[in-house]
Amino acid sequence: MAAQLDQATRDALMERVRFYRDLGLTEFYRRPVEQLLATAEAGAEPHHTAVQSLSEAPGGAPLPVLKEETLISARKPLPSPPPASAAVPAADRAAALVAIREEIGDCTRCPLHEGRNKLVFGDGSPTARLMFVGEGPGADEDAQGLPFVGKAGMLLNNMIAAMGLKREEVYIANVVKCRPPGNRVPAPEEGSTCSPFLFKQIDIVHPQVLVALGATAAAYLLGTRQPLAGLRGRVHAVRGTQLIVTYHPAYLLRDPRQKKEAWADLQIAMKELGLKPPTRE
Ligand code: URA
Repeated sequence: MAAQLDQATRDALMERVRFYRDLGLTEFYRRPVEQLLATAEAGAEPHHTAVQSLSEAPGGAPLPVLKEETLISARKPLPSPPPASAAVPAADRAAALVAIREEIGDCTRCPLHEGRNKLVFGDGSPTARLMFVGEGPGADEDAQGLPFVGKAGMLLNNMIAAMGLKREEVYIANVVKCRPPGNRVPAPEEGSTCSPFLFKQIDIVHPQVLVALGATAAAYLLGTRQPLAGLRGRVHAVRGTQLIVTYHPAYLLRDPRQKKEAWADLQIAMKELGLKPPTRE
C-alpha cells in the first residue's frame, strides 16, 4: 500500500508544482515509486529529469506515491474551442448568463463536484468590455461562490484598479467552476467538460479584450498548450475578441518581481481598450 506523505512535504511538493505550472510547465511524467526503488536497488543510474526530482525527498530518497491525479495531468490534446456563437444584444446578456447558470445547474458532470462547497460561475458586468479568465476556484472562492475573492483576488482587484476600472465593470470567470482539490491544475477531462460553459459566457459578454490569467487559462482559450513566455506581450485573436496573456495573480504573489511584466501586459489591454492609467489626486 502506498505510504502517505506528511503535510509539510505535500505542501512543499505542491508549491514546487505550482511554480512549474506558473511557468507554463504543466506536463509531468513520473515513474511509479516501485519502479524507482527497483532502479535504485539494481544500482542503475536513474534517468534524471526535473520532473523526477519531484519524486525525491531532500537528499535524493524517493518519496512515496502521491495520488497521480493530484499532481499530474496526462498529456491529452486540449479540445479545440467551439466556434463562437451569435452575438447577444447588450440588453439580453444578463438573462443569457442566468440561462447558462441554470443549464449548469447542480452540476455532477465531472469529479470536481464531489469536493465542491459552492460552484463559482462568474462575476461582474454582463456587458463588460474587459474579461479576466482564471484557472479554477480556490478555497475562498469555493466558500463564497465568487471568483477571485482570496489573496490572489485582492491582487487582481488592485490590477483592475490600476487600469482605472472598478471590479464591477469587468467580468471574471474561470476555466473550471468547481475547486480542484489542493488547487491542482484541472485534469484535462475536467477542463474539457467545464470549459464549454466558459466559452458560452465569453460569447455572451463578448468583451473587447480578454485577459488570460496564467498558463491554464491561456491553454484553454487558445486550444493549445504553450509556455506563457511565448504568449505574453502580444495580442491574440480569439472568438472575435483580443486576447492578452499574463501571469496568474497567485504567481505574482509568489514572485512579486514579475509584477512589472504583468503591468506591461495590462498596458497592452489598456491600449486596446483606449484606457489611460488613472492620475493620482
Ligand atoms: N485562482 C483562480 O484561477 N481563480 C479564482 O477564482 C481564484 C484563484
